[in-house]
Amino acid sequence: MPRKKANTTKKAATNKPKTSKSVKSKRLHRLRGMKDVLFSESKYWDLVERKAKDLANVYGFQKIATPILEFSDLYVKSTGKETDIVSKEMYAFVDKGGDKVTLRPEATPGAVRAYIEHGMFNLPQPVKMFWMGPLFRHEKPQSGRLRQHTQFDLEIFGEEGPVADTQLILIAYNFFSELQINVQIQINSIGCPECRKDYIEKLSAFYKERGKRSKLCNDCKKRFTKNPLRLLDCKEESCLEVREDAPQIVDFLCDDCREHFIKVLEYLDELEIPYNLNPFLVRGLDYYVKTVFEITPIDEEGLDPSQQKRQISLGGGGRYDGLVELMGGRPTSGCGFGIGLERVIMKIKEKSIPLKEDNENIIFLAQLGEQSKRKMMTLFEELRKAGYNVRQSFTKDSLKNQLEEANRVNAKLVLILGQKELLDGTVMVRDMELGTQEVIDFKKLYPELNKRLEVKEMKLENSATESIAEEK
Ligand SMILES: [Zn+2]
Ligand SMILES: [Zn+2]
Repeated sequence: MPRKKANTTKKAATNKPKTSKSVKSKRLHRLRGMKDVLFSESKYWDLVERKAKDLANVYGFQKIATPILEFSDLYVKSTGKETDIVSKEMYAFVDKGGDKVTLRPEATPGAVRAYIEHGMFNLPQPVKMFWMGPLFRHEKPQSGRLRQHTQFDLEIFGEEGPVADTQLILIAYNFFSELQINVQIQINSIGCPECRKDYIEKLSAFYKERGKRSKLCNDCKKRFTKNPLRLLDCKEESCLEVREDAPQIVDFLCDDCREHFIKVLEYLDELEIPYNLNPFLVRGLDYYVKTVFEITPIDEEGLDPSQQKRQISLGGGGRYDGLVELMGGRPTSGCGFGIGLERVIMKIKEKSIPLKEDNENIIFLAQLGEQSKRKMMTLFEELRKAGYNVRQSFTKDSLKNQLEEANRVNAKLVLILGQKELLDGTVMVRDMELGTQEVIDFKKLYPELNKRLEVKEMKLENSATESIAEEK
């Protein structure tokens, strides 16, 4: 598709009369499956990003950022050649230097690479990291999924105990509940390569039974030979039907895997995190072992079971103990999870959760005349640095227009500085809510403002996140 576009442009460029015409008539637009975040949506982004960062910090995760572009081999090796991501969905291309590169389709491989490349095994373990950023997958257009979406991602390296799995699930759960989104944790253990072998044999035998394979969708027919575990992942109606009687992996776990899984569940019980043991949850990636989990929304009105099966996941993760070694590092256990933020924002909007916007205690600075304007510009910076929530419209000279703007931004107080006030060393304070107006001594501005705003401490932390947490 990109190549086709490039060709048309080239052709047009060699043919001048056509160029001007086609360029004019053909407006550029964004790529399919890509989204602009416009003004009205930014407040939601602020909210979820703040919530994510706060939680990550509280639980001791440190922020990292890895490049969006990596060698394609990174994903082929870690995510797995046979996965949908690598085989169908990667934005992979050869760059000008002839390197095969890929736009990041998932989070963990880059984090693992960074852990190895920067020798983080020398740091005190566990190493806990988080990041936020875009992922790119060339999804089918009809799937309704975005081709660029944003993920909040946490990884723990060097902790093999079930505490790590539990902590990740806890953070994911807190993230949603503190944003007032009801979720349930879907959880399963897919064992280790050892015990999984027996299970896969049993599973293959099950699907080989008469009449079963013919009911599977085309993708599953292919999966059957390559990776039978992935059959459990399919959302096609006919495949779900066959799956109902399939053997369950929990019955095949070795002692170590079973013990680990039971511990995770016990911790979750203690923390009162609602979960659903989902024996068919496998997550379509090659590197997972033991615990895998997904977060699904619970809708108030309740869904019928068939819909619930197809319930869209808001995020998920799992353990990947062998991955660091597979990628060339020392044997290091790891686990992580990612949350898709666009879907979170969709949920917040659906529920019309009230957002406390940054529009409380706004002070609007209005001015009349060149000298007043200068003084107010200085005052504006001073107030802003002191933490006040200030607004202005210094490009407007008429008081009427400035007051209209003050109204529009919902200002509580308007400070008006005209020629007279400037000479007298005063300023007029108009309280927009009470409709009162008073001339005060400029030197007493701060105590007067604090009195009117009822600010006890000079810190106007306007955290929407906190307000939601409090309301809960
Ligand atoms: Zn095992
Ligand atoms: Zn299928």
